[in-house]
Amino acid sequence: MQDCIFCKIIKGEIPCAKVYEDENVFAFLDIAPVSKGHTLVIPKEHGENLLDISDKALADTAKAAKKIAKAIVKATKADGFNFSQNNGTAAGQGVMHFHFHIIPRFKEDRLKPWPHGKYEQGEDKDIAEKISSLL
Ligand code: 5GP
Ligand code: ZN
Repeated sequence: MQDCIFCKIIKGEIPCAKVYEDENVFAFLDIAPVSKGHTLVIPKEHGENLLDISDKALADTAKAAKKIAKAIVKATKADGFNFSQNNGTAAGQGVMHFHFHIIPRFKEDRLKPWPHGKYEQGEDKDIAEKISSLL
């Protein structure tokens, strides 16, 4: 993809702080980290989001991300980490090349967790059945 900034990073046309590279996967520090060591792990094959990329690209990227997460925790002495992935602008995706975020977390970092809601009576069953019927 010509205009994709992550494809340009893979090709070395845009500089980055590289963390990892193999035949199919590339990882580098996020330019605006949530916490220090925040890393993006991407497939070299361009695809916009989770529904767009091949199963192989997903598997390769997830496997590499697990290995990278272990190293991030060690390097940053993190107490934990968030492993997340945004799909679509409504979900906060800003760069349309599939990527996992690995975000080191610390006991007292005070980052806000997701807000939680609740279901009306029976609503959860209806939604679960609707999803289930489409699988
Ligand atoms: P998204 O919001 O799409 O899930 O995440 C995209 C991430 O890419 C953001 O956290 C943003 O800071 C990061 N990012 C955007 N442009 C660049 C860039 O040119 N270099 C690096 N290293 N990170 C970038
Ligand atoms: Zn791309």
